[in-house]
Amino acid sequence: MSSSPTGIDPLHIPPVLVNLGIACHYCLKEKTAPNPLLQCACRHVWYCNTECRKAEWPTHTYLCDVYQTAEEECGRKLLDAYWSIPKDRDTLVVTNFGMLEEFISNTERVVTKTLEDLLGRPLVFQERQVVGWEPHCLACGRTDALFRIEAELAKRNTRPAVLKPCPYCNLSFYCCESHWRTAKSKHENEPSPYSRDNLTQCEMNKRCLEDLRCSQIISAGSAVGEFTWRPERIFASWSSVRDIDWANYEYGLYKAFKAYNSMGKRFMDAMLRAASENLSMPLTILWSLEVLNGDDDAWTKKDVLDIHVLGADELEISSIEVFEEIVHRLPLVKTLVLTFIGPNLDKFTGPEPLITELKTCSDCIHNERSIAFNSYPMTYHQYMDDRDSTKPDLAIAFNSGCSKSDIESWKTTYRALSRKRVPSLFTASNEVEAQRESVLFHRSGIKFHPELHPRHNPWGSLILKIDSKTISRFSENNGWISGGWQ
Ligand SMILES: [Zn+2]
Ligand SMILES: [Zn+2]
Ligand SMILES: [Zn+2]
Ligand SMILES: [Zn+2]
Ligand SMILES: [Zn+2]
Repeated sequence: MSSSPTGIDPLHIPPVLVNLGIACHYCLKEKTAPNPLLQCACRHVWYCNTECRKAEWPTHTYLCDVYQTAEEECGRKLLDAYWSIPKDRDTLVVTNFGMLEEFISNTERVVTKTLEDLLGRPLVFQERQVVGWEPHCLACGRTDALFRIEAELAKRNTRPAVLKPCPYCNLSFYCCESHWRTAKSKHENEPSPYSRDNLTQCEMNKRCLEDLRCSQIISAGSAVGEFTWRPERIFASWSSVRDIDWANYEYGLYKAFKAYNSMGKRFMDAMLRAASENLSMPLTILWSLEVLNGDDDAWTKKDVLDIHVLGADELEISSIEVFEEIVHRLPLVKTLVLTFIGPNLDKFTGPEPLITELKTCSDCIHNERSIAFNSYPMTYHQYMDDRDSTKPDLAIAFNSGCSKSDIESWKTTYRALSRKRVPSLFTASNEVEAQRESVLFHRSGIKFHPELHPRHNPWGSLILKIDSKTISRFSENNGWISGGWQ
């Protein structure tokens, strides 16, 4: 790919590759044979050349100055923690990956804290990314920084090992030939437990790369997820979304984005995955309404369909037009009432409740069908307290993270939902999170709908995201159902 209809250099890629050290930290240009990248003095970021380094120096100088000191200060502690992870005695291959993941999270915390103490201020987002995304060897889990610390503490004069990327995907790493031989077969031949299509980790990495490059082209340099496609056609009647999948959207996508068709099938596949990132929300709503209502299709014929989106935040707000897909698939519904409720909404819709109407497509206007939009900047139980009789057709929380943050607040919310018998659904971005959340729901006495136990969401996003805290995990927006009930 050398050119694109938008004229944006497809080699410009977003921060994930930058953070893995395979793209320039300043201009984002990818590492290639003619552009091998120079390592900065701090050894944690890379640049095309001294010009790119100079251009970024005014902002990077602070982190750069303290990184080496930080490594010296916490080096011993990190190394001791690393060696306490169980390994094969001869090969040093890690045998307990759970402990390795814990170590990775702890390392990030320790290094961040040390850097913040040295700087006397919290790290800004860009700086936190540099700390949180170090490449790890697939077999032993070590990073370049650990090898350096090890060499320095042992006062060895030999050059410390440097991680090399897998030659096929460039997104997984190994420290030496023998560790590559150990990890290679699993990485290249075994289906990853995080794949729906039996892809190997190497193939999933390659897909991530394609998605990153595609999103650079279609959303003008912004991150994955900022491309929003609202299909503009109205169905003649409701038809089930249980027997179909994302392939059903292919034809419409090709038609809507003719300008990109010349980029080829692989690119259009990546574009469909990009579209699924946000379309996953309305489709998950339709799918869960269908599952929860079973054979009773009265909900498809209501004049007013009332949906509550809990913990709504930037993602929901920034892609709000995709929710029109709900009315496009439900031609008998005259008004969709879409109510977003979440404590962070004040940043987008102001501190007071907002009651308005969304701009719809001309077909919807012509057929006098509308979307009423309400935004309440508060938690759901605060919202419900004032409206005791309110019962929407569905209350849904996308990637709520209710097992990670605001645990108590979420608990009050899902307990209230269950008590009031509100049809509800919670999604998560991976299996671990979904299982954790389902345990919390269980403990609150919630009885799941038989089909809505932790499971893959057929309408989860197709965009895979590499998990920075592990060396093998991926996540997908709404990829998992944590639980659903009524
Ligand atoms: Zn550069
Ligand atoms: Zn630096
Ligand atoms: Zn290794
Ligand atoms: Zn690979
Ligand atoms: Zn419309």
